[in-house]
Formats: sequence, structure tokens, C-alpha cells
Amino acid sequence: MATLPKSVIIVGGSIAGLLHGVYLKRNGTNVTILEQDPNATRSSHNAGICFGPSVQEFLRLYDDTGIQSCQPGIVTRLAYRQNLYWRDTTIVRHLTSWGVLYRILRANFDGLSSEAVTTPPVARARDGKGKYLSGKKVTSLQMTHDGLVVGYVGEDGKEESSVADLVIGADGLHSTVRNLVQAPVVKEYSGYVSWRGTVCVADVSPETARYFQDRTVLGLLKGTYIVCYIIPPDSASFASGTRLINWVWYCNLPETPESNLKELLTDSNGHIHTNTVPSGLVRVEIWRAHLAQMLPLIPAPFAELFVKTESPFVTKVNDALCSRATFLDGRVLLVGDALATFRPHFAVATEQAASHCLGLGRVWRGETALQVWEKEAVDHATRVWLGSRVMGAGLLRGWVEFLLLTWKYVVFFARSKIGV
Ligand SMILES: Cc1cc2nc3c(=O)[nH]c(=O)nc-3n(C[C@H](O)[C@H](O)[C@H](O)COP(=O)(O)OP(=O)(O)OC[C@H]3O[C@@H](n4cnc5c(N)ncnc54)[C@H](O)[C@@H]3O)c2cc1C
Repeated sequence: MATLPKSVIIVGGSIAGLLHGVYLKRNGTNVTILEQDPNATRSSHNAGICFGPSVQEFLRLYDDTGIQSCQPGIVTRLAYRQNLYWRDTTIVRHLTSWGVLYRILRANFDGLSSEAVTTPPVARARDGKGKYLSGKKVTSLQMTHDGLVVGYVGEDGKEESSVADLVIGADGLHSTVRNLVQAPVVKEYSGYVSWRGTVCVADVSPETARYFQDRTVLGLLKGTYIVCYIIPPDSASFASGTRLINWVWYCNLPETPESNLKELLTDSNGHIHTNTVPSGLVRVEIWRAHLAQMLPLIPAPFAELFVKTESPFVTKVNDALCSRATFLDGRVLLVGDALATFRPHFAVATEQAASHCLGLGRVWRGETALQVWEKEAVDHATRVWLGSRVMGAGLLRGWVEFLLLTWKYVVFFARSKIGV
């Protein structure tokens, strides 16, 4: 696969799917993205994501919107128990929201206009065609003489299919493509959940606004921890009055018959979610009971954010690791969270997706082999997967799990150093 495929179907129209879609389209390939969510302008979780060097490089090369995509958080502040000013570091993290990045990528891919990108860029001379089909759930994949046939079901239940030279599975944690190619995968619940939410900077007290201003803040508490940073709303406004303080609060909740995990995942309509209870559907009594139990332990600026958040949402923290990224002679690829979903402590999911895309670019330009890309992608994924488990165990799960996972990490590191 040393040349660019002429036609590609991408399964999954979130960040990884769109990054690959924009890359291929900019290089002349005709791309169809099939996304199961019927909502064209998708509502984000209104939560933050972190940009690494590959995302920035990608946007520098392929984004023609000209709008500001992220902003640097200059200082990372560590609070330890009740000591709010325990340490300040100079680690810089580039931060934005899922909604902003999604809208920028859509504007470049298929010209979707939004509040963030009111005038989408015109196509470049060498661009291929980009088609984004919403409400199409992929259900089958078959290799034929004509190419790869992807079967999908529309919202009306109608079955359809499309053919392409290459299929990219960018369909996240519960990847259908990964199942269809029977890829080897380990998938596990971490034993903790993340509560998330945002509050507009303008709605908190001046002291709290100052405490979080232009910083990533980590609150390390007993058996729980909190991450906060500033993000733009989906409209991509970086004006100080409109920006949001985004918080993520990790709390232990083992999957045992006695724990209330199932109750937590049951929304206000009685529907049980597998992973995330979205904003607006979390049962008020569950959130209130959680606050009543935990707030006495929480320092004031964090507590103010929780109390002032109108619609928090909650996600079961799962991870998954697949030991292969290429299938059917390199004509089916897995990228982004479909290849490896990390516990989110390092905030590198978007960066992983962008690095997969730039790496495949080198394969398609003939600078490296697909097998080399696959090995690098799987090695990197395994390292981050293990590392984020170690971090989660250290901050939330206690010494026994921490030492066990650290040992696994060291063994993996030593084996990869000697080429095993
Ligand atoms: C709506 C949404 C909002 C998000 N908001 C945030 C956020 O605020 N902060 C954050 O850190 N992360 C967020 N994430 C997760 C984040 O995008 C990923 O962790 C990371 O960027 C890697 O993305 P991905 O594209 O590999 O996987 P995902 O973002 O999980 O995307 C997978 C996509 O595949 C689609 N899909 C799955 N199965 C099928 C199928 N059979 N047929 C067609 N489509 C399918 C899903 O609907 C989804 O859009 C969000 C994801 C989504 C989908």
C-alpha cells in the first residue's frame, strides 16, 4: 500500500475519522465517512481535549479555516489535599473542546458551516471528494473482486452498501470494524468513573476564576482526584467572558453486586447506558447524593465548580488495546480509540489519532512500510495503555494495584528495549 488509495470508507465520524478523512481528501482521495449518530452538527460532551504536537502539525498543514483552535494553559498547578498551592510547574498544554475541533475538521472535510466556522474554506485544487453520511450504522464488511463492500443500516432501517479500496475503522472503544475482522483485543473496566462538567468563568467568584485562570489544575485528594482547565465553548469563542472551566472528577466505583454502578448508569428516563450518561440525563438524586457524601472533603474552588454545574455527565472509565492495526492484506486499518482506548489521565487520545494519520501519510508517500507503521502504532499504544493504568492505579486504586501495574510496565519496557 505504498500509494494513496483512490477511494476510502471511514467508519466513525468523530475526531480520528475526520483527521484521516481530511488528510486523504486533501491528497486527492475520494472519502466517505459513515457515522451512526444521526445528528449532523453533533452535540459535544462540552468537555475539553488536549492538543499534542501531531494535532498541531496536522492543523498547520491541512486546516484552511484560519480560526483559533486551542489555547495554551501555561502553568500546571498541583493541589494536594487541602493545600491549594502545593506546586506550580511550567508544563504547557494546548487545550480546546471536542466541539471546536470537530467543527474545524468538518468545515475542512465537507464544508459544514457552524457557529464556530461560519464560512467554511473552499476546496483546494488537488482535493478529492469528502462525503459525511450521518445516521449510518456499519454492520458488515466483505472482501470481493470489486473491492471492500461495507454494509450499513440507515435510520429508517434500510440496508445499503458502498465499495472502496480501503476501509479505516475509526469507530472508537466499541469498534464494529474491530469485531468484524475478529481482531485480538483486551477490554476492561478500570474500577472508577469520571464525573465531568463545565461552568462559565463569568459565573464563578473572582477568587475561583483567578485560581483556575490559564492553568491546568490537578487536585490530588484522598482516593479521588480532579483535573480542571479552561476551554472555549463549541462556538470557538476564546473571549474571557465566554470561556468555560472544564472539570473532570475521578471517583472509585467497583463493579460489584453491592456497588451502585448500575444505578449510576440508569438515566432519568430509566434507560441503562453502557458507558456514558450524557449531560441532561443524569438523575438529579444520584448527583446530589454524590455531592452530599464528597463535598466535605473538597477544597473550596473545586467545590464551587461542582455546585454551580447545571448538567454534569458521568462516564465509566474503560480501556481497550488491540495488538494488530492492519487486516485483510492491509486493506482494513484500525486507528484512534478503535486501536487503543486509554484511561484518560494523560489526555493523549486525540494526539494518538493524529499521529496514526501522519504516520499513514508516510506509508502512502512510500517513505515507510505499512508493517513498520503498525508496529510503531501498537508499541506506542501498549506503552501509553500500560502507563495510564499505572497512573490511574497510583491516584485512585491503592498500592497493590499500583505496584502490580508498574511491574507490568517495567517488563514491557525492558522487553521492547531488547526487541522482544
Ligand atoms: C460525540 C462525542 C463527544 C466527545 N467529546 C469528548 C470530549 O469532550 N472530551 C474528550 O476527551 N473526548 C471526547 N470524546 C472522545 C474522543 O473523541 C476520543 O477519545 C478521541 O478523540 C479519539 O476519537 P476516535 O474518533 O478514535 O473515537 P470516538 O470519539 O469514540 O469516535 C468513534 C465514532 O465512531 C462512531 N461509530 C461507532 N460504531 C459505529 C458504527 N458501527 N457505524 C458507524 N459509526 C460508528 C461513533 O458514533 C463515534 O462517532 C467524544 C466522542 C464523541 C463521539
